[in-house]
Amino acid sequence: MRIILLGPPGAGKGTQARHLATEYRIPQLSTGDMLRAAVSSRSDIGRRAADLMQSGELVPDDIVTGVVADRLFHEDCRTGFILDGFPRTIVQAQDLQKILRSSHAQIDAVISISVDENALAARIERRAEEARLSGQPVRTDDDPEVLKKRIHEFRQKIEPVVEFYETVGLLHTIDGMGSIERVSQQIDAILSAVRLSVNVKPTVASRF
Ligand code: AMP
Repeated sequence: MRIILLGPPGAGKGTQARHLATEYRIPQLSTGDMLRAAVSSRSDIGRRAADLMQSGELVPDDIVTGVVADRLFHEDCRTGFILDGFPRTIVQAQDLQKILRSSHAQIDAVISISVDENALAARIERRAEEARLSGQPVRTDDDPEVLKKRIHEFRQKIEPVVEFYETVGLLHTIDGMGSIERVSQQIDAILSAVRLSVNVKPTVASRF
């Protein structure tokens, strides 16, 4: 299965992506995680992304798409993947189409997790608190002011992406305000239906 999860910061994409990765035995490709790793390793990409991430702005499309394209060619993506946090702009969505088309692969489902934006700040605060309590580093962009910027960026850029996937018939919107289990159940129901309706072949012939 090749799955895209869309949703604002704090919607629960990461949690659901990890659940799906275990269930379908396919990797979770989080562009946020990949970029944070690049920042930590002080790579060239990391240096270009660091300030933008810190201020809640999006990293330029060519950088992010390059990171994703490299990752998609790894062997573990051959039978599928879950994209978490990508695409976030229409240019990224179009570039992803080109990359997949060149490998005769396609996305099976795009799941948009819809949440009440008023609840996001509380969720992000909880995430930061949980990290603090478990001795994990707290994300520097999990800060109330930066969060406002991240939500604004998301809202500004995601609409054409959502429309694009709706037009091509891949979009499924779910209610992300319930419990983690309830959200998982909705996603599982969608993916079960998709698996029945789409001929999900093991992609022996494709590079993914
Ligand atoms: P996330 O962990 O998905 O909340 O992403 C953290 C930050 O990484 C975002 O606020 C952006 O600065 C950057 N980022 C992650 N994914 C993308 C993307 N697809 N396009 C542009 N910037 C991204």
